[in-house]
Amino acid sequence: MKPRIALIAHDKKKDDMITLAAEYLDFLRGCQLSATGTTGGRLANELGLTVDRKHSGPFGGDLQIGAQLVNGQIDAVIFLRDPMTPQPHEPDINALVRACDVHNIACATNLASAHLVLSQLMAAGGYEKTKKGA
Ligand code: PGA
Repeated sequence: MKPRIALIAHDKKKDDMITLAAEYLDFLRGCQLSATGTTGGRLANELGLTVDRKHSGPFGGDLQIGAQLVNGQIDAVIFLRDPMTPQPHEPDINALVRACDVHNIACATNLASAHLVLSQLMAAGGYEKTKKGA
């Protein structure tokens, strides 16, 4: 079965998400991706990824991804949070991270852990990392 990965990035982390996803592009093309609205839009437009786009985070997108996760439909969450900016939907963010803990789903909230999760999933699936400039 394809790995099912949720991708979410706060505004100041969206460029990091695009760079990250570009690095794992071949692998991510073979995954089933969910994302919050704006993050998903950028992943689709800039990298051509097929993404199940939920609402934007502040409008409930994190909760929609949380519901998918609770229903057993997500294998890992890459959630690049901005720790320096207050978010209007902080309760939703906490709910999603809590749901990951309740259901023992890998949740990477920064680039270092995102690389670990993605490279591990990739290795488990026998994929090779996207070659730079390829
Ligand atoms: P967005 O939502 O991708 O729609 O910006 C992310 C978030 O703020 O949780």
